[in-house]
Amino acid sequence: MYEQIVIAGGGQAAVQAVDTLRRKGFTGKLTVVGEEPWLPYQRPPLSKKYLAGTLERERLMIRPAQFYADHNVQAHLGRRVTDVARRERHVRLDDGLVLPYDALVLATGSRPRRLLAPGAELPGVHYLRTIADADRIRAECTPGARLLIIGGGYIGLEVAATARERGMGVTVLEMAERVMNRVTCPQVSSFYEAEHARHGVHIRCHETVRALHGDGHTGRVRAVLTEQGGEYPADIVVIGVGVVPADELARAAGLECENGVVTNGHCGTSDPAVYAAGDCASHLNRQYGRHLRLESVDNAFEQGTTVALNLLGTPTPHDKLPWFWSDQFDLKLIIVGVAHGYDTVILRGAPATRSFSACYLRNGELVAIDSINAPKDQMAARKLIAAHVRPNLDKLADPAIALRDTV
Ligand SMILES: Cc1cc2nc3c(=O)[nH]c(=O)nc-3n(C[C@H](O)[C@H](O)[C@H](O)COP(=O)(O)OP(=O)(O)OC[C@H]3O[C@@H](n4cnc5c(N)ncnc54)[C@H](O)[C@@H]3O)c2cc1C
Repeated sequence: MYEQIVIAGGGQAAVQAVDTLRRKGFTGKLTVVGEEPWLPYQRPPLSKKYLAGTLERERLMIRPAQFYADHNVQAHLGRRVTDVARRERHVRLDDGLVLPYDALVLATGSRPRRLLAPGAELPGVHYLRTIADADRIRAECTPGARLLIIGGGYIGLEVAATARERGMGVTVLEMAERVMNRVTCPQVSSFYEAEHARHGVHIRCHETVRALHGDGHTGRVRAVLTEQGGEYPADIVVIGVGVVPADELARAAGLECENGVVTNGHCGTSDPAVYAAGDCASHLNRQYGRHLRLESVDNAFEQGTTVALNLLGTPTPHDKLPWFWSDQFDLKLIIVGVAHGYDTVILRGAPATRSFSACYLRNGELVAIDSINAPKDQMAARKLIAAHVRPNLDKLADPAIALRDTV
């Protein structure tokens, strides 16, 4: 049994590991080190209700401060782990403090991918990952101001929807041929492009940012120029071009890393005393038979739990089916499973009804589903995908037939 566990990173995965460890009887020393000044908080509202100003900061916190006191958890906030000494089994913090461990959990999350274009560091240009980022963006999101978003992924589109509802002029530049192209099929992308257009968001695909220009007087960003010759005026710019895993500690410590910290089916790293969970981890997924690095609350929650159970001595595989959600306007998109490598898409219901699903199949097997305002489908899909079923395609295309009856 371990006596002292240190968790590097203070986000969703960290708090879940803490919660499970204490709930399941871990009585040893438990320490969390988080570089942000906040206790672990939920990030999803940062592009939604918190950005809109309709959710207070305190409501973001996953657990109140009392929880950590009650569960005897030492939290070093505003402190960064700078070094992992695996042979000595200790970590060093940026203030010089050394924390010994029997087991270390890396839960360091991910960081926004930086845009490598001249002018990307100008005042008025933002990334969105933290409360501090959201506060800065919100302060500049005044009605009538022109917001230019670089990147038509979830975060870009969620910010677009929120800002549009706050009365801003919003343009989204996407270099691919369609929005959310990394995660959804063309039909779902087209639907979202039409919905954003209907709400007055200007989406421009096939636009690759070349440079950002500043105002000669104020120095603030003034316009975004593209390789294709476009020039888009902007009062504020938000860049959402993906994230990179925060795996630098693991790399420096010589742990195996490949698009994140490589973990086995039990969330263990190449060092038996070190586990990794959440956005920073590339885990061996039993459902899909390969390594996956996922960026979702569900994944951080489930892996935080799995790590804790393994630390408690119960060998527990991480075998949960991934899911993810995105809220834009009044649309709730829920993605269950991983569509990667699909060869067929079947739509259930018409996009015009604003309630439909896209079912992804590979060699006849249902591997993922995107449901838009269609909660019944996504609930049923979880069981079917996990069971590797091969649905009847005609039945699948008929929304009058319940998803569970398509097999
Ligand atoms: C704006 C936004 C909207 C999102 N919306 C959704 C959504 O709708 N649905 C969904 O499922 N997911 C959403 N996500 C993704 C989800 O929030 C993440 O997948 C989840 O937070 C990952 O949890 P984590 O614990 O792995 O990392 P994080 O929550 O990022 O926590 C990691 C923490 O570790 C800290 N850290 C890093 N390195 C160190 C170090 N060396 N020392 C100390 N601390 C360190 C980081 O600063 C950070 O605070 C959203 C993310 C963002 C940014």
